[in-house]
Amino acid sequence: MLGFLKEILLPVLCVGCGDMGEFCCRRCLENLSFLSFQECPVCRKPKDDGGYCGGAECMVTYGEKYSFDRLLVAFKYQPKGVLSKLIVQMKYKFSRDAANVLGTAMVYLVQSLLMRRSLGEFVLVPVPLSKKRLRERGFNQAEELAKVVGGRVGLGVVDCLSRSDRIKQSLLTKNARWRNLAGSIEMKSHYQGVCRGKTVILVDDVVTTGATLDVCSRILKESGAKAVWGVVLARGEFARR
Ligand SMILES: [Zn+2]
Ligand SMILES: [Zn+2]
Repeated sequence: MLGFLKEILLPVLCVGCGDMGEFCCRRCLENLSFLSFQECPVCRKPKDDGGYCGGAECMVTYGEKYSFDRLLVAFKYQPKGVLSKLIVQMKYKFSRDAANVLGTAMVYLVQSLLMRRSLGEFVLVPVPLSKKRLRERGFNQAEELAKVVGGRVGLGVVDCLSRSDRIKQSLLTKNARWRNLAGSIEMKSHYQGVCRGKTVILVDDVVTTGATLDVCSRILKESGAKAVWGVVLARGEFARR
């Protein structure tokens, strides 16, 4: 009875087009465009496995590689499409429905990474949110995505990184930001060794500069991870509304 009333009083509207019925209708789901090829994380030239192209020009122009070995991106960046609406719902409105839709779409990417390899070689780790923000939000979107993915591929989520609150990043210069970030992320002490010899699949929602994934990867490798593969929904800027 209550469910029935709720449906009449609060109809479910599609996050993409506003039609009544489902959280994200079939038509809008079909409008999500998957990335048809992966790119070199540095210069963004096509590269099948999301690894570095190794091109001299790429390295000379952009300098150092990141600490992660591959970057796999699920969707084409759409600043105003269904994807960004879903991401805003997930990140700022803490919608588990949005995390479910997006996490499910990420599954195929992770499945392609696991192909013909034993699950025991991998650890699934979410990019951490600071304790303060986690308290405010009650929701780490990267962890929610990782849980959806892990549930589907049969890998447990290891929430082994922690992030403390430091000086507001936007107040700092680029180099200072990097150092500030590096000092704020660490391995939780009771998880030491959990990544030793493993390939870590590091999950985040959107990658922009790559700094957070880079710092997380460096820490995971210091703790013995053999390789770190970043898996994200999209690469680009998503404006907060
Ligand atoms: Zn729709
Ligand atoms: Zn390159």
